[in-house]
Amino acid sequence: MPEPANASLRNALRVKPDSKFRLAAVDPAATHGYDKESATPVLEREMQRLARLQDKLWAEARQSVLVVLQGIDAAGKDGTINKVMEAFNPQGCVVSSFKVPTPEELGHDFLWRIHRRTPRKGEIGIFNRSHYEDVLVVRVHRLVPKSTWSKRYEQINAFEETLAAGGTTIVKFFLTIDRDEQRARFQARLDDPTRRWKFAMGDLAERKLWDDYQAAFDEALTRTSTAVAPWYVIPANRKWFRNLAVATILADTIAGLRPKYPRPEVLPADLVIE
Ligand code: AMP
Ligand code: MG
Repeated sequence: MPEPANASLRNALRVKPDSKFRLAAVDPAATHGYDKESATPVLEREMQRLARLQDKLWAEARQSVLVVLQGIDAAGKDGTINKVMEAFNPQGCVVSSFKVPTPEELGHDFLWRIHRRTPRKGEIGIFNRSHYEDVLVVRVHRLVPKSTWSKRYEQINAFEETLAAGGTTIVKFFLTIDRDEQRARFQARLDDPTRRWKFAMGDLAERKLWDDYQAAFDEALTRTSTAVAPWYVIPANRKWFRNLAVATILADTIAGLRPKYPRPEVLPADLVIE
């Protein structure tokens, strides 16, 4: 019997633990046999599945989910949160966006600000950027010495293992676009007065460091895709495919937790409401 489409997509996009991963081997424009038309009803179905699953997860309040979103500037992290996480009841879904660390945050270890934002039982936590910045932008810009950042892969794995042991299921999405797509998206931001605010001059300086970022991505994805906290690399040139892939993998992941409504305190038949 052929594998269900869901399972094969999930498998195809997962970074296998203990093998050398190269982003260059992934086509950012890939759509895995879908087109925009056929994707629409599938996405709708997955969104409904996400809504039902989250309702149970929240009601059950026994386990949590952490979604990590990474990707180069304009890869679509904000768009994914907007379009996919819309399935969730805001009660029970907490989004954290990690920016340049404040002086207070820099006064602590790099995981301090992260750990404070991890989801409690019943919640879905969404990280828009994350502790991975501490082996990405920090490495590319040499914000700390190599002797410091090079130890962080293992520290991150240990941290994520601790979260997992405490009942948090971790799923990490790396959105990949190519340089041309990034150029087009930056230009679109400049052209649209309602989106111009998203464009930062620093974005152009970062774009010049494209190759350095690819190298940092490769090492992070290779060294931190583990059994308890897998990375999925999502071809993200096409927003509709990105949404479909993230929604499907996320729904499958939460379904695997088998969240259940708690047993009711009373049986309706025993109760008369006057
Ligand atoms: P944005 O996601 O466009 O709002 O930008 C947030 C900025 O914060 C990005 O340029 C990130 O690289 C930067 N940033 C996030 N975390 C860190 C970190 N740990 N160290 C330095 N810069 C960071
Ligand atoms: Mg930005």
